[in-house]
Amino acid sequence: TEQSYIMIKPDGVQRGLVGEVIKRFEQRGYTLKGLKLMNVEKSLAEKHYEDLSARPFFPALVDYICSGPVVAMVWEGKGVVATGRKMIGATNPLASEPGTIRGDFAIEVGRNVIHGSDSVESATREIGLWFPEGVAN
Ligand code: ATP
Ligand code: MG
Repeated sequence: TEQSYIMIKPDGVQRGLVGEVIKRFEQRGYTLKGLKLMNVEKSLAEKHYEDLSARPFFPALVDYICSGPVVAMVWEGKGVVATGRKMIGATNPLASEPGTIRGDFAIEVGRNVIHGSDSVESATREIGLWFPEGVAN
C-alpha cells in the first residue's frame, strides 16, 4: 500500500508537537512503519530539498532543517500522500486552514513544523533517502 515520508521539523520537536502529530496520523487510521529521531547532515537536507536549490530561501531552509533533531517517519495507508498533505495544510501557515497541523500550530513559513511528501514518486525517493536501512513490513 501507499507510503509517505512525514518529518517533524526541528521547531516541531522543540515545541513538543511530536505526540500531537503522531496522534493525528494514528487517529486518522494510518500505520506507522518507520520512526527515528535524528540530527540531519547538511548534505541530506540539501538532497531532500534539491528541487528548491535555486530558490533564495534555500540556504535558510537547509540551516533550519539542520538546527536541531527531526523526527523522520514513514506512514502507510490508503491515500496517505494526498491526505497527509491535507492534514498538514498549506506551505504558508497563514494560508493553512484551522484544523490542519500548520493551521493549528504555526504562523511562519520558515518554521512550519512538518514536512509531507508531495507525490507518490517523491515519497519513494524521500523514504529511500531517509530510511536507507528500510522500514518495517
Ligand atoms: P515541505 O516540503 O517541507 O513539506 P511544502 O511541500 O509545503 O513543504 P515546498 O514548496 O516543498 O513546500 O517548500 C519546502 C519548505 O521550504 C517549506 O515547508 C518552507 O519551510 C520552505 N519555504 C517554502 N517557501 C518559502 C518561502 N517563500 N520563504 C521561506 N521558506 C519557504
Ligand atoms: Mg515540499
